Amino acid sequence: MQKKSVSDLPESVLRGRRTLTRVDFNVPLTDDGSVGDDTRMRAALPTIEYLCQRGARVVLFSHLGRPQGGPDPKYSMAPVARHLASLTKYPVSFHAESSGDATVAATKALGEGAILVLENTRFHAGEEKNDPALAAQFAALGDVYVNDAFGSAHRAHASTAGVAALLRPAVAGFLMQKELDYLGQAVTQPKRPFIAILGGAKVSGKIDVIEALLPKVDGLLIGGAMACTFYRAMDLETGKSLVEPDRVELARELLDRAQFRLTLPHDAVVGASLENPGKPRVVHRDAIPPDMAMFDIGPDTAESFGRAIATAKTILWNGPMGVFETPPFDKGTRAVATAMAAATKKGAVTIVGGGDSAAAVAEAGLESEMSHVSTGGGASLEFLEGKVLPGVAALDDR
Ligand code: ADP
Ligand code: MG
Repeated sequence: MQKKSVSDLPESVLRGRRTLTRVDFNVPLTDDGSVGDDTRMRAALPTIEYLCQRGARVVLFSHLGRPQGGPDPKYSMAPVARHLASLTKYPVSFHAESSGDATVAATKALGEGAILVLENTRFHAGEEKNDPALAAQFAALGDVYVNDAFGSAHRAHASTAGVAALLRPAVAGFLMQKELDYLGQAVTQPKRPFIAILGGAKVSGKIDVIEALLPKVDGLLIGGAMACTFYRAMDLETGKSLVEPDRVELARELLDRAQFRLTLPHDAVVGASLENPGKPRVVHRDAIPPDMAMFDIGPDTAESFGRAIATAKTILWNGPMGVFETPPFDKGTRAVATAMAAATKKGAVTIVGGGDSAAAVAEAGLESEMSHVSTGGGASLEFLEGKVLPGVAALDDR
């Protein structure tokens, strides 16, 4: 279902109106209390500045960290508001609450084209419970609701699904729209061939994605420690590799069902341990030594995954191919990122989902070489599983 976005609203609906905008400003704070990585903040700027340009009174709210249902100065949005002021030319102020009469008054006192950042939504115990009373208090802070927090859309919270049910219009911001467009297009009408590459530590978190994607893709390439659970299902020796014994049976079933559409690495980079890997060795997948673990896909696999990527028109990637945090086990992950960047240049649609995969792409400096890098780890997985995201469902249909 297509959702309305801010660009569908005529200027008359925005000028002078309070646009209550849920952003994902859940950013890492450094020890001195300033914002570390501000990627998520910059990703929300197009929506914020679009609203400012059209004379809206822009009220922003977000969660930050995991306060235990009450105010905790460690998780105050104040430093985030200060940082936002350094990113935009529009005036930014901060209000140290996110509900109540004084907050409502602050939103009404806001000038056109000015931004007000409210305090952390999770300072209310009702936020994560989607408490209707809190949702109603939030609804009093705006005339229009905008949700640009894709990363929080898979949870029905008061600031996402709750308030969206009470304020009309309720529309998607540009970042949310971009996420829905890319991920939605990939699963409903991908340009073919469509391949998915899945990796990461565990099969268990991604089984539903594998199941949902299998009937849709032309090929599913598996790397990461996930591959080892499949190896076990093929009765291969996996040594000290990370295997989920309780998922081996399921892996066997998936192999049966997927047939040739599922590809596992045929060679592996192995080491004695991560702390003390020794000299990493490349072995065929049926020769993993019993006293070693697979920490990356091998070079032949990286090359053949690269070839598959080069011939595909839509490539969806979630989960690193190896322990990319610990060189030299980052090579397989880098190879996939590089091949995807080259595919983008040739016109393929390339989509990266998952926090660690996104970090690997950023580290390789290839973020801007992908069609889309999703900002929502858990949300993008649930979307790809075909689940309804409550924060999205609550927005107006187009
Ligand atoms: P994402 O956040 O992109 O969805 P995951 O969280 O599922 O990815 O998995 C990322 C983690 O998987 C990384 O910390 C990485 O070190 C780990 N990993 C990948 N391959 C292996 C492997 N062969 N052995 C152990 N850990 C692995
Ligand atoms: Mg992760």
